[in-house]
Amino acid sequence: MAKLYLVPTPIGNLDDITLRAINVLRSVDLILAEDTRTTSFLLKHLGIEKPLRSHHKFNEHATAQLFMETVEAGRDVALVSDAGTPGISDPGFLLVRTCVEQGVEVETLPGPTALIPALVNSGFPCDRFCFEGFLPQKKGRMKQLQRCAEEERTMIFYESPYRVVKCLEQFAEVFGEDRPISVSRELTKKFEQTVRGTIGEVLAHFREHEPKGEFVLVVQGKTRKKKHSEETDTEDDD
Ligand code: SAM
Repeated sequence: MAKLYLVPTPIGNLDDITLRAINVLRSVDLILAEDTRTTSFLLKHLGIEKPLRSHHKFNEHATAQLFMETVEAGRDVALVSDAGTPGISDPGFLLVRTCVEQGVEVETLPGPTALIPALVNSGFPCDRFCFEGFLPQKKGRMKQLQRCAEEERTMIFYESPYRVVKCLEQFAEVFGEDRPISVSRELTKKFEQTVRGTIGEVLAHFREHEPKGEFVLVVQGKTRKKKHSEETDTEDDD
C-alpha cells in the first residue's frame, strides 16, 4: 500500500523548503493542499506539476475518502498546508488518524514551523515547553488561559494581529504584568522582529505600534519556589 507524506512548507522565506520536501512533492501522485492557489504558487516556484486537491477544515472528512481510494490504488499522497507543518494549528490530524486506523503508513518530514524559532529566539528555557496554539476566540478563552496560570514550562501561543493587544491584556490579568514574554512577528520574512520584556512593557509597545503580520507569543513559565528540602538536598533523585 502507498504512503501519506506530511510535507512542511516555508512560513515566509521560500529558501526554507528542504531538499527532501522537494523530492517528495516531485515523487507523489497526488498533493492535498489547504489552499490550492497558495500551493500552486509554491509548486510553480519549484517547477513541479502535480494533481492538486483541496483539503481544508471544511472538507477534511470528505477528502479522507478520496485519500483512501488513492492509497489503496497504490498511489502516494502528500499533504501540505498554506505554511509550516500540517497538523500544527492546520488540517492534518484527521488524515493521520485515518491512516493510523486503516493501517496506512505515515511519514512526516521535519521542516518549517513557526513555534520552534519563536521558542528558541525567546531566550526562555526550551528543554520543556508546551504549545497552546490559538486560544478560543470567545467562549472558553479565559478559562483556557487560567488553566495555564500555574504552568511552569515555557508556553507558546499563536495569535492573529487583530487580537495581539487584547491577548496581552489578558496575559497581564492571568500571569501578571511582570511575567517575562517574547513576541516574535513575521519570522523568516523581511520585517522579522522579536520584542522581549515584561508583559506590561510589551503591551505598552504594541499599544504604541499597531501589530502587523503574523505573531507567536512565548510566555515564560511560572517560577517555582524551591522547598527548603530541595535547597539542601544535593543528591540525585534516582
Ligand atoms: N502550520 C503552521 C506552523 O507549523 O507553524 C501554523 C499555521 S497557523 C494557521 C498560522 C499561525 O502560525 C499564524 O497566525 C501565526 O500565529 C503563526 N505563524 C505562521 N507563520 C508565521 C511567521 N512567519 N511568523 C510568525 N508567526 C507565524
